Amino acid sequence: MHRIVVKVGSNVLTTASGKLDITRLSSLVDQIAWLKEHRYQVILVSSGAVACGRSELKVEYALDSVEQRQLFSSIGQVKLVNLYYDLFREYGIHIGQVLTMKENFEPGDQYNNQRQCMEVMLDNDVIPVVNENDTVSVTELMFTDNDELAGLIARMMGAETLVLLSNIDGIYTGNPSDPASEVIREVQPGESLEKYIQTTKSSAGRGGMESKHNTARSVAESGIKVIIANGKRTNILVDLFSGNDTPIHTEFIPN
Ligand code: GLU
Repeated sequence: MHRIVVKVGSNVLTTASGKLDITRLSSLVDQIAWLKEHRYQVILVSSGAVACGRSELKVEYALDSVEQRQLFSSIGQVKLVNLYYDLFREYGIHIGQVLTMKENFEPGDQYNNQRQCMEVMLDNDVIPVVNENDTVSVTELMFTDNDELAGLIARMMGAETLVLLSNIDGIYTGNPSDPASEVIREVQPGESLEKYIQTTKSSAGRGGMESKHNTARSVAESGIKVIIANGKRTNILVDLFSGNDTPIHTEFIPN
């Protein structure tokens, strides 16, 4: 069994108008089912709760940013997990929801308990679907974004590979919209791509390339391969792991 953590960003799961992209979500479920059939044990870290909730509800008065996160994630997470439940059930695959917070990653009982929880799920062939517990987390103590969360999960669970799916093909040598820019295919241990990273972000979630780069570097340093790839490309996960015709992506070689 190869244990992998797949993180799906809010941008992958939403359309340009901010609505949940059910076709994309369904295709990712098909691909994870394929991985499972091919001896991959998958932990799914899925963003999209806030984005999903936002498009569900019209609020009549102005909410501050914390209230928005709390309200939209509370309804969005239910919708998201329901969809995953229905789609995975078509394959006879069980999923379980894990909502977590940064404090659960301090060494100690909570950390051990959380790891144990996901081990018992995996032992019983249940796919953990992980997200931050956005409804109750305290702003200052939150994960930078779900990339950081996915990195912590990959380390905690001793994964072989972490895949960060975003809406671009990888880390570029310049602005991705500039035709002269190219995707950096391979990053050696200890190599920094800081000079290439664009700090601007147009995203439905909190993350961006800078935080992906930071997470990818530190996770690769702990011996886990990290792939940054485009979750909007058809069949991306199958193509990455089937070995034929590998799609463009950035790969951080582990230490
Ligand atoms: N936990 C947030 C959500 O599900 C996403 C955080 C992020 O954008 O990384 O909406």
